[in-house]
Amino acid sequence: MSTSDKEMQRYNHYISQLFAVEDDLLEATRAMMQQEGLPSINVSASEGQLLHLLALMSGARRILEIGALGGYSAIWLARALPADGKLITLELDEHHAAVARRNLDAAGVGAMVEVRVGPALASLTAMQQAGEAPFDLIFIDADKDGYVDYLQKAVTLVREGGVILADNTLPDAVLDENGDSGAKRYNAAVAAHPALVSGIVPVLRQEGMDGLTISIKRTRGTARASV
Ligand code: SAH
Ligand code: MG
Repeated sequence: MSTSDKEMQRYNHYISQLFAVEDDLLEATRAMMQQEGLPSINVSASEGQLLHLLALMSGARRILEIGALGGYSAIWLARALPADGKLITLELDEHHAAVARRNLDAAGVGAMVEVRVGPALASLTAMQQAGEAPFDLIFIDADKDGYVDYLQKAVTLVREGGVILADNTLPDAVLDENGDSGAKRYNAAVAAHPALVSGIVPVLRQEGMDGLTISIKRTRGTARASV
């Protein structure tokens, strides 16, 4: 086991130093999170770069994130937006939200990012009721027990052909003792969802591997994929 952990660290290092080198602003964001006592549960740099790539691939102009923490993943995502793009990030904890706000401003993306404080489910319901314009990409990365509820909202808030991502969906789903983790229920829900085509990409981080579940919302009128 320890050998393969070592190997995974080497793989992560290789990918990160080649494709996901942090600039001063991302480094400062992590330093600020640490200084403010936030947990180090942000995405890794290599996963941040993957989020950035997926946002570019989907031509995202409007992104929704659920779970801001200190704004680290939001910076990777916001950097994929065009100048008139917008990212809304939902955060329960006021202190986390304040740190995110500061980091996003310092990183120069503050003008295109809105941090909404409150329980994500309530914010999502309010967005539905307000007729919020559809999002091109939604990144779910908050409390795992809320994932299935967030998915139901995300499917209505994302455009056809848009992307829904969910973080931390592999070890929790596979290695969980009681067998009923939020991640496992989430993966089962996207796999069974008639409006979605989905898969999981393993992602590497310092502490080993995890998974990112990727779903795309079908465009109405196209044939169901035969996979
Ligand atoms: N996306 C961040 C990490 C998010 S960590 C990154 O990679 O940089 C998960 C965040 O979800 C924490 O900040 C936590 O406070 C927040 N959270 C937990 N429960 C929540 C809820 N019900 N609604 C909104 N945010 C929640
Ligand atoms: Mg995460």
